[in-house]
This record gives sequence, structure tokens and C-alpha cells, in this order.
Amino acid sequence: MTRSGEFDLIRDVFAPLAEAPGALGLADDAALVHIPAGRELVVTADTLIEGVHFLMNDPADLIARKALRVNLSDLASKGARPDYYFLCLSLASWVDDSWLTRFGEGLAADQKSYGVSLMGGDTTATPGPLTISITAMGSVEAGRMIKRSGAHAGDLVFVTGTIGDAGAGLAVLNGASASADRGSLIRRYQLPEPRTGLGQKLVPLAHASVDISDGLMADLGHVAAASGLRIVVDAARVPLSEGVRALWGSNATAAARAATSGDDYEIAFTAPYGARGAVAALSSETGIAISEIGRVEPGEGIDLLNEAGRAMPLQSLGFRHF
Ligand code: ADP
Ligand code: MG
Repeated sequence: MTRSGEFDLIRDVFAPLAEAPGALGLADDAALVHIPAGRELVVTADTLIEGVHFLMNDPADLIARKALRVNLSDLASKGARPDYYFLCLSLASWVDDSWLTRFGEGLAADQKSYGVSLMGGDTTATPGPLTISITAMGSVEAGRMIKRSGAHAGDLVFVTGTIGDAGAGLAVLNGASASADRGSLIRRYQLPEPRTGLGQKLVPLAHASVDISDGLMADLGHVAAASGLRIVVDAARVPLSEGVRALWGSNATAAARAATSGDDYEIAFTAPYGARGAVAALSSETGIAISEIGRVEPGEGIDLLNEAGRAMPLQSLGFRHF
């Protein structure tokens, strides 16, 4: 295996990704970010660790894209337009030049898809596992970021796309009986699709919003807590893909499993009843399904209701790191 020195790596792999003028070609101590008048920065960070979030043998380009996309999903849920990202790498001893080249190719592909530029970062070596930390920056019109805390009693609750696919993909990777949709489920686990365009269009519609990383119930629970209200979700209305139905079924128990499995990177949001038509129009315009799944009420906590309207007992609301 060969690995170039730190400065060759920055010059050969990372500098070509530093497309924005403010990145200064990665040849300065810091980047320069211009904030247009009337806009605010929206900033988020996420870390991926070998053995926890990915495995050594996973394709390097997919690891890179997932690391970037989980951050872009956070920005999308805030209604922000993504602009820049910073990359901090702690390289394990097994990482060689060919791995790093492929990692850079993954970033290059997604920079094109999402219109973002690398702005800087840091590179170190570690005796421990490979650790990838990305900080992404975007912007919104000043005062318009969609927070978790903005829900109103009486709001409807919506979610984009389908729920549980990534969790089912992970189950398939761990040996669950394979359905015809095996490939697409695994794909949704390995490569999230942040709702970047749709998220920005939620700014005039949504009162509160969150991206689903830990699980639909867990993340909507954060919206309920931050807003000081209760959220109820109807199990029968949780959108399940064909693949999830084939693997887990389509009853309330399957919905509960999907709604607590995580890694969906869809957006859950609340909006007033009067926004229903606009939400449907946004779904047609973007070609992304948006399902009405529940409502916001006075009170606290979050419940998943079965067909009889009773709260289902859930072992956990979603994934927890510790
Ligand atoms: P400093 O010693 O001032 O922290 P470095 O020598 O670590 O600077 O980095 C030099 C330049 O290369 C800086 O512009 C930094 O942002 C950039 N850089 C270093 N590592 C990375 C990386 N993994 N991804 C992107 N840019 C990087
Ligand atoms: Mg440094």
C-alpha cells in the first residue's frame, strides 16, 4: 500500500474539489465565506466512524457520499440551500492512496449533484478507526430557518418519501430473507437521498421540520418536545414501499418497525390544515410523495396509533448511540 504525504494528498485529492473562490484553493489557513445581505448561515456537522457507521470494505465513494449527504439532509430539513462543506479526516493506517482517490471521486460526484464546494478541513493520522467528520454550511433568508420548535396545536404532520427502507436494507444485509427489492433496500441504507430541493420549498409552508436519521418516531418526538406539544401518528398512514411490505408486511406492527428503524433521511414536517393543497402541489411539482400521517395536539410526547386509535406500545422510538 502507498500513501502520499499530507500536503500531496491535499493538493491532489482535495484541492480540485475546492471550487468556490472562498476556498482559496486550500492554500491558506482558513476559508472566506461571504454571506449575502438578508441571508443567514445554517451550519451542521456529522461524524462517521469505521465499524460504527460503515465498514472498512464498503466502497470508499459511497462512504464519502453518505458522509456528505447526511449533512445535506440536515440542511434540507431546515429549508436551507447547501453551499459549502469542511472535511476532517482521521486516517486509519489501512487507508491508502487508491482508497483516498475513490473517496474524492465520490465527493466530486455529489458536489455536482448538490451544487456544493469543499472549503477546507483537516487531515490527521490515527492508530484508531477511520473517522470522517463533515461540517456543512448553507443559507436561508434571514429569520426563515424551519426549526423543530415551531409546531402549532392543530397542525397536520407530513413525511416525504417512504419510511423504513434503510432499516429493511440493513436487516437484509444482516441476513433477513431477501425479497425482490433487496438491491433497492440496501441502496437506501448505503446512500441516502437528501430532499434538498423540496426542503427549500417548505420554507413558506412548514411550521416545524426535522430530518429522519434516528427513526420517524424518535425524530418527530424531538419536534413534539421542542414545540411543547403532543404528536400522534396513524400507523396505517406511515408510507411503506413495496420492498418493506414484502419483507415486513403492511400491518400496524410493520409500520411500527419502519417508524422506529431510522436512517431514512426523509423530512417530517408540520403545517397548518390550510397548507394541505400547497403540500399536494409541492409533491406533484417535485415528483416526491408527501404523506399526511398525523397531527399536533396540546399535551406532550409522541404516540403511534393502531387502527382502533390506541397508542401502540413501542420498545424504543428509534436508534440511540448510547
Ligand atoms: P493548518 O495547519 O493551518 O491547520 P493544514 O496544513 O492542516 O492547515 O491545511 C492546509 C489547507 O488544507 C487548509 O486550507 C485546510 O483547510 C486544507 N485541508 C486540510 N485537510 C483537508 C481535508 N481533509 N479536506 C479539505 N481541506 C483540507
Ligand atoms: Mg492542520
